[in-house]
Amino acid sequence: MPRPSIGAAAMTVAERQKLERERNRRARQAVLGLESFALNAVDWEKQRFLSREEILGSVYMLTKWAINGPAFIDETRLTLSPDRRAFTANVFDRFNIDLPFCRACGVDLTKDAAGGWQGCKCKRGVSRTEA
Ligand SMILES: [Zn+2]
Repeated sequence: MPRPSIGAAAMTVAERQKLERERNRRARQAVLGLESFALNAVDWEKQRFLSREEILGSVYMLTKWAINGPAFIDETRLTLSPDRRAFTANVFDRFNIDLPFCRACGVDLTKDAAGGWQGCKCKRGVSRTEA
């Protein structure tokens, strides 16, 4: 039987170590994000505490991101409507995790020279890194 040529088996040691480092970094970001979220489970725009469903939904999304990383972002980009992408980016702001979508219109943001996300042309939403 031929060896499988896709998936983890085909990765080099360096590639595996890189993935491992990225996973560890996301796990750390998720834990720090949860700490911040636990103290700020608030919708500042509407001046109210988040509902139980919103809190559970947010933690579920964070967990998916922590496990899947770039694949979660690609899935968000490919499967959600622009307004849902904007919503998702706003949720992740509560975890201090900066997703590459405009907070107002949901379009993809591009990286600026400093490694942050450029503001969107729609001007309604500015990336957190620019605020
Ligand atoms: Zn926008």
